[in-house]
Amino acid sequence: MNSFLWLALHRLLERFAAWLTVVRVTRACSRLRLAPTSPAAMAVWATAAAEDELAAFKKTVDKNVTHPPGAELAERICRPNMTNKEFCAMVLKLRDQAVAFIAKQRLPELERWDKDAQARVQEWFGVADQSMREHLQKGLAACKRVLEGLGCENFIRYSEASNKNLGCIFSSDPVVTVAAVCKPDTATRTIAIGLSFCDLPENMLIYDTNIIRDGDSKLLTLIHEVTHFDDTFSSFDPWYGTKHARDHAEDPRSRVNADSIAAYILGVVAKASK
Ligand SMILES: [Zn+2]
Repeated sequence: MNSFLWLALHRLLERFAAWLTVVRVTRACSRLRLAPTSPAAMAVWATAAAEDELAAFKKTVDKNVTHPPGAELAERICRPNMTNKEFCAMVLKLRDQAVAFIAKQRLPELERWDKDAQARVQEWFGVADQSMREHLQKGLAACKRVLEGLGCENFIRYSEASNKNLGCIFSSDPVVTVAAVCKPDTATRTIAIGLSFCDLPENMLIYDTNIIRDGDSKLLTLIHEVTHFDDTFSSFDPWYGTKHARDHAEDPRSRVNADSIAAYILGVVAKASK
């Protein structure tokens, strides 16, 4: 090969290496959950955005209106209808529910390791051997520990994440980002909340039962984010959505797919899903 060709090849390899670095940084940092883009969901966001603009507009023109300290719309995580105090109460309730799912259902199930326990693991991860069992026991215990340590201070608005030195770049659109964390951020465990998180149902529980069906929810999202931390499952997002995750159970990456783990923890039932 002549020197010109060598140089061209070298440059190509350099570009590829640079691209790989960018991809890795993006993947390691912010785990973004994209909300469904159905017309109904978009309408909700559009309304929320319009209301938000209206609120801001009123604030500028009406000089007689004064806002009490700490009640600025801009400081609210789920603006404009929920105060941060209300948000905190809601998210801590979800935290307790997530802990209960792990401590009272999945961990005892993994301990029993009977036919039903193995069937659930098989459903989400395609294999139910001893190694998978230990992988889940270790990861679930870590998730439980992290969840139990979460308080109001761990949650911020998505748009504020870029101002914090979390070691990640949070650059996606906050309207379609449900939530994000920086995987290596085991020091502050900041969970950035996007606007569309606020529009999700709290859970996908079927009325009057304890059965959870397919679909996104605040509870699923909270667990999803916790699985991303490097000292829990250090999960990734090859497939978003519980149905999508189940469809890829046979792929070895399912063992570290955030929504596969979150759906497994909640015991999402396919047959109950419409
Ligand atoms: Zn994610």
